[in-house]
Formats: sequence, structure tokens, C-alpha cells
Amino acid sequence: MEDHFQKLSEDMNKLVKPDLELFDSFTLQGPYSLNGYVVVPNSFPLDYVDEFYSEIDDQLIGGLTYSGYAVVYDGELSLLSLDNSPWLKLGTVELSENDRRVIKQVKNNSVRVLGFDDAHIDPNELDVKEGAEDLAKQLKLLLPNCAVCNNPITEEYLMVGDNYLQVKYFDDEESNIFCSEDCLMKSLSVLSVYIDSE
Ligand SMILES: [Zn+2]
Repeated sequence: MEDHFQKLSEDMNKLVKPDLELFDSFTLQGPYSLNGYVVVPNSFPLDYVDEFYSEIDDQLIGGLTYSGYAVVYDGELSLLSLDNSPWLKLGTVELSENDRRVIKQVKNNSVRVLGFDDAHIDPNELDVKEGAEDLAKQLKLLLPNCAVCNNPITEEYLMVGDNYLQVKYFDDEESNIFCSEDCLMKSLSVLSVYIDSE
């Protein structure tokens, strides 16, 4: 079977994880325009047309047009399509064992990004840097929040798994999301009771 990521697998030692935090924004020169990008968490879909992004107001940036991975390749911040590449989606390509191994390795050295370009007949209303910052702000709002303290949750949260409580106690899924045991216990009014031996 053909290895589609052969070149990448040979260049593995040239790949470095970018020094970017979640929701950092950056710009990169594309073939037709300067483009804007935002780092998103692993929990966000890597498909910019996904329903998940329907609340994003992207009029001022001409619409989302990119989702993929960003990696430092040979010293330069670069974009990569891995298992989200369009030809894979079309089902015209089958991945080999080696491809899968390479994709996994590259993912460990990359961040997920969503982006837009400015190659439209009418230029975007916001300049690219401002647009990327605005997009970052909006994307951040898509994170789930702790039901008690309202902190945004980027990776992991606690939820009550008891079926009775899920149905009878919590109004909806959003009220069963907690950033910490403290918040969970507050929500359930868990008390400490001292046993008095006298
Ligand atoms: Zn909390």
C-alpha cells in the first residue's frame, strides 16, 4: 500500500510543537492573502462547517475557511492536514499502517487550529489580526462552563454518573458539569458532619 505521509515521516525530526496556548491567535501568509488562525482544544471538531460552530459570527472575517493542524516545520510555523484532509474525507485515499503511525506522531507535536482567509472579492471588514482575536474570543465562549463557579473547562470535567440524579436532580446536561470536587460537592450540598463522642 502507498504511504501518503512518507515525506512527513522522513522529516519527523524537523517537527516541533508550536509554543502556542489554547485560543492564542496568529496570522500566516497564505497563497492568496494573509490569513488568521486560532488554537482550539482537542474537544472542538476539526471541521469548520460543523454545527458546533454555528453560533460563531464570522461575517467580519469572511467566514471560516480552514481547520487543521499547526506545527513548527523546519523552524517555520506551518499548517498541515492530517486525517482531516479533504481527500480522506472524500474516501479516495486509504491510510496505511505507516500513515496512521505518522499522523499520531505529528499530532503529538502539533496544535489544532481553525482559520479564515482574506481572499474574497470584498476584503474582510476586520483586519486579519483583529479578526483572529475576535474569533478567539468567540471560540472561547463555546467551552463548557462549570455549573457552580462558571469557570470555562478546557480538558476535563466531573459529572455525576448516577442515573437517578441525572434524571431527577439536574435540569439538563449543562448543570451536571463541574470543574472540581469542591464545586460538585457544593452543588449537591454535601456536608461534613462531626461525630461528637460526648
Ligand atoms: Zn467550578
